[in-house]
Amino acid sequence: MEPTAWPCSGGGENPSKPRSLCDVSDRIPYLNARLQGFGVTIFAEMSALALKTNSVNLGQGFPDTDGPEVVAEAAIAAIRAGHNQYPPVVGIPELRTAVARHQKRFYDIDLDPDAEVQITAGATEAIAATMLSLLEIGDEVVTFEPWYDSYGASIAMAGGVKRVVTLRPPEYAYDGEAFERVITPKTRLVLLNTPHNPTGKVFTRTELEHIAEVCVRHDLIVVTDEVYEHLVFDGEHIPLATLPGMRERTLTISSVGKTFSFTGWKTGWVSGPESLVTAVRTAKQFLTFVSSAAWQHGAAVALDLDDDYYRDFTADMAVKRAVLCAGLTASGLTVHEPQGTYFVNTDIRSLSGEDGADFCLALPERVGVVGVPTQVFYDNVHEGRHLVRFTFCKRIEVLEEASMRLAGLRQTMEADR
Ligand code: PMP
Ligand code: GLN
Repeated sequence: MEPTAWPCSGGGENPSKPRSLCDVSDRIPYLNARLQGFGVTIFAEMSALALKTNSVNLGQGFPDTDGPEVVAEAAIAAIRAGHNQYPPVVGIPELRTAVARHQKRFYDIDLDPDAEVQITAGATEAIAATMLSLLEIGDEVVTFEPWYDSYGASIAMAGGVKRVVTLRPPEYAYDGEAFERVITPKTRLVLLNTPHNPTGKVFTRTELEHIAEVCVRHDLIVVTDEVYEHLVFDGEHIPLATLPGMRERTLTISSVGKTFSFTGWKTGWVSGPESLVTAVRTAKQFLTFVSSAAWQHGAAVALDLDDDYYRDFTADMAVKRAVLCAGLTASGLTVHEPQGTYFVNTDIRSLSGEDGADFCLALPERVGVVGVPTQVFYDNVHEGRHLVRFTFCKRIEVLEEASMRLAGLRQTMEADR
């Protein structure tokens, strides 16, 4: 059977033509109705395509260099020291106290590391456990589109219903009225991501204040995904939990993957008021029970790295942003320069492209580069049809190679016309 949608689009107004390069049919036998349509994630699919075509992979967001040696050594030392059995469900005390110190150091948030911090298997498990523990069947979750791909699946697994507010380019501006309109008596929580993947938007204080005011007015819980908290180039990262009335209703999620370039460690945390964290823990303990011991020891060392580490990490990524944005601009694509994260979106219409999915499927053959069609992160696919996301968390020479290849793009597209 032909696939009828990008595999990870999962519901919504899906494109109708077959596009997947993986063998994904539109209906997967045995898979329950809640997960039909989620298929294979776009990241797995595009990374497989990059390998197959020997392309520069600017699709999936993972760095091509390791994080700090001292952090890796701490995990290795933990294994050698015999930290190889189940750690506590809540997480090892060294990591929970490090999370609390980090939140105090950067945001002046006070956390009780015993009651208000839960360690998880990456931010992904934190998001899933949050949805599974807080939602009743039919509860609505408001989030912004384009969204991060696991949100829809986590909400669906929990029996919830995703409702979206669209962030529109080039600024991906927040529309407060649209946000208020989408809230119904069934709304249980708001799932916010700032800095925002895939748009690179960093929500401003004014925007967050409005979100906070609405959440207090409607007595909503907020889950904020802040995995890119240390990747802000323009503006400022403001954790929603720091705004008036939000501490008691906000769960804050982050992880070691992005800030310390250890995406494979899958070690994350969720923090907030004891009542909410306890609920999340109840689900977490039956998903993975505990999270891997050695990585927690490494993560504890990572969070306590000095301010120079954090500053250099952001500065280094800002240089990479400049290199890739220049390369993309020179190729003729319209670049939406991101304020944060390590992703940049481009509008392909400046090269007479219309459909980002077609564009991404042809790009490896045209110039040997892989990107991700941003449309797969939308319920309203037409909103992102002409957008393509590239990541710049790669070595400068890799970004320069990609830029060189992209320089030939206009010619190959014109030759086709
Ligand atoms: N949220 C967002 C917005 C992401 O981009 C990612 C990808 N790292 C995650 C969550 C998942 O994080 P982790 O790898 O720690 O599970
Ligand atoms: N967060 C990464 C991205 O957006 C990828 C994570 C994944 O592969 N699931 O590219």
